[in-house]
Amino acid sequence: MPALDAIGEQKRLDALARYDILDTPGEEGFDRITRLVRRLLRVPIATVTFVDAHRQWFKSSQGLAYCEGERRHAFCGVTIRQPDMLIVPDTRLDSRFVDNPAVTGDPHLRFYAGMPLISAEGHGIGTVCAADTVPRLMEPEDVGALTDLAAIAMEQLELRLQVATDPLSGALSRRAFRDELGRALALANRHRHELSLVTFDLDHFKSINDTHGHHVGDRVLVESVAACRGLLRQSDQIGRLGGEEFAVLLPLTGRQAAIGVAEKLRAAIADLSFEGAQGPFSVTASFGLTSLDNAQEDGDSLLQAADEALYAAKATGRNRCVATQPTQGDAGLGRRVLKAGKIVFNGGQSVVDCTVRRLSERGASLAVISTAGVPERFKLAIEADAFSRLCQITRKAGPELDVAFA
Ligand code: GH3
Ligand code: MG
Ligand code: MG
Repeated sequence: MPALDAIGEQKRLDALARYDILDTPGEEGFDRITRLVRRLLRVPIATVTFVDAHRQWFKSSQGLAYCEGERRHAFCGVTIRQPDMLIVPDTRLDSRFVDNPAVTGDPHLRFYAGMPLISAEGHGIGTVCAADTVPRLMEPEDVGALTDLAAIAMEQLELRLQVATDPLSGALSRRAFRDELGRALALANRHRHELSLVTFDLDHFKSINDTHGHHVGDRVLVESVAACRGLLRQSDQIGRLGGEEFAVLLPLTGRQAAIGVAEKLRAAIADLSFEGAQGPFSVTASFGLTSLDNAQEDGDSLLQAADEALYAAKATGRNRCVATQPTQGDAGLGRRVLKAGKIVFNGGQSVVDCTVRRLSERGASLAVISTAGVPERFKLAIEADAFSRLCQITRKAGPELDVAFA
């Protein structure tokens, strides 16, 4: 039986995953909040933080040189476990934090105040927090200001979920697209019509942002969607599933025809040209595709199947389309998950926290803060699932590890 707190943590991660916020670029609405925290509380450091399985990640931060850190040292990791504000007037007088690396070393925190961001279901997913390098007391108006700003941050998160169209690209929001998919699927099942679903994700988009800036990255997103829309039928729908990942719903279209459509979309995106810092550049995208083979498949399993095919397109070189096989089995590439995991080695003496991002019968994809010191073979434990398997690393890319189960 998994421990109760592991199950609670999994529910918390599920709640966090629904907001689809981790690793998204900076947004003015959240930057405004951290600027206001700084001004109203007169502190040098302010963040809007989300707590992933193995790390804290800053959606917005002022006064810090880094954008993520290990969860086990995170003040915000403590804040999300309580319903109200965590105030530490002097970190050196608090036994929980006196040995914290952010207290004993950079940025030498002496004061911390964090208000938890609580999801609609009551899970602490992140914080709005203020910090200083000198001890401080929180006045009642400071408490009020931080409470209000956390409520505004939470409202922004909820509103993002409710909008039907993505303001940047004009594509349907994730939620609206899933609604459309559900309707189209019901119709296709009732009338035994064909239906296909394509997902695509821009290749190496992080480095496009890093090289040319977010504004250029945004233009790439807008023009890629516009190029696709120009090639689609009126009855087709395009949605933005997350950051730089999109989906296209093709009613009355079978697998072979859909492969043709996906190939056209792929070529159209690759043909676009953008003005970058060092002259013109172009982009590519990888595509996954699936079709309704058996009546009664639900929207989520179609999305998952297309996503697995997309992952295969990434793994086999990018800038290509991969279709699922006519009757879906376990493709073995893994469905997308957000779970807390532990990498265990050295006879159980060494443990590294990780976030499990994909999981199948045959292997998993893991994210860590650093792969330094992680051996080629180790045991992966997912406490919430009472899961434990021996693994062999098959791919390392930055802070990400793919593993095969022994
Ligand atoms: P891969 O080929 O494996 O897909 O690599 P990648 O770099 O595209 O993958 P990853 O998913 O790690 O990076 C996605 C990046 O997209 C990270 C994020 O900052 C950026 N992004 C997400 N949403 C937006 C947006 O609205 N605008 C801009 N400019 N960038 C965005
Ligand atoms: Mg990408
Ligand atoms: Mg992506």
